[in-house]
Amino acid sequence: MSAPAVELRGVSVHFGRTVALRELDLTVGRGEALALLGPSGSGKSTALKAVAGFVRPHTGRVLLSGEDVTDLPPHRRGLGVVVQNYALFPHMRVADNVAFGLRARRMPRRQVEERVSEVLSMVGMADYRRRFPRELSGGQQQRVAIARALAIRPPVLLLDEPLSALDAALREEMLAELLRLRGELPDTALVYVTHDQGEALALADRIAVMRDARLVEVGPTDQLYHRPRTEFTASFLGAAN
Ligand code: ADP
Ligand code: MG
Repeated sequence: MSAPAVELRGVSVHFGRTVALRELDLTVGRGEALALLGPSGSGKSTALKAVAGFVRPHTGRVLLSGEDVTDLPPHRRGLGVVVQNYALFPHMRVADNVAFGLRARRMPRRQVEERVSEVLSMVGMADYRRRFPRELSGGQQQRVAIARALAIRPPVLLLDEPLSALDAALREEMLAELLRLRGELPDTALVYVTHDQGEALALADRIAVMRDARLVEVGPTDQLYHRPRTEFTASFLGAAN
C-alpha cells in the first residue's frame, strides 16, 4: 500500500486568539478529489494553506506521500496551488507565468516550451501565451493560474474557491472544464475548497464538511448527500435541501 497523497494529523492553526483550525485529521488518496466544504470562516482556506505550507501548524503534522513536510517551505513541497489571492505575476506574460516553476527547477528551455504549450492547451489558453494578465478576463486568469499550478506535474493540486469570482455562466463552464481536466489527470490528487455544495457534489470523490474550525463529517460524496450523519451536513448538503 502506498502512502496517501496528503495526510493531516491533528493539525491546529491559531491566529492570535482565533483558532482557525482545531485538530484536523484528514487524508487524501492518490488521484482522489476531496472537497473541503463549509460556510465562510469555517477554516477551509486555513486547512489548504497548512497543506501548501503558507501557514504553520500550532500543533500537528502535515505529510505528503508519507513524508513529513511540516517544516518545509511551500516551494519545497512540490504542489500545485491556486489560492484565492495568489494572483499571476502582473509583469510577466502568460507563457512566462506558466514557465516560472519550470525554470526555477532548471528545466531545459525546449522542454519548458513544450510543457507550457501542453498545460495552456489543457485549460484552453494556448492562444494567449503572449498576453499579460491584465489583458485577460477573470476566468482566463484563473485558467492560467491553474495551468501554472499544473506545469510542474504536481501529485496534488490545491484549489481554493477557484470559481467564486466568476459569474454564473462562466462558473458552469469552468466547472465542466475542471471535470474534464480531472479525467485527463487521473493520478493527480485534488483538494478543492468551496462553500458551494453544487461544486463539491459535481467534483469530489469525498467531501469533508467543516464548521467552526472543525471537521464535522467526512465521507464519500454519495454517502454525505443521501445519508448525512449530522444535522449540519444535512442542512448544508443533503438531499432534503
Ligand atoms: P474559510 O476559508 O472557511 O472561509 P478561513 O480558513 O479563511 O475560513 O478562516 C478561518 C478563521 O480564521 C476565520 O475566523 C478567519 O477570520 C480566521 N483567519 C484566517 N486567516 C487569518 C489571518 N491571517 N489572521 C487572522 N485570522 C485569520
Ligand atoms: Mg476561504
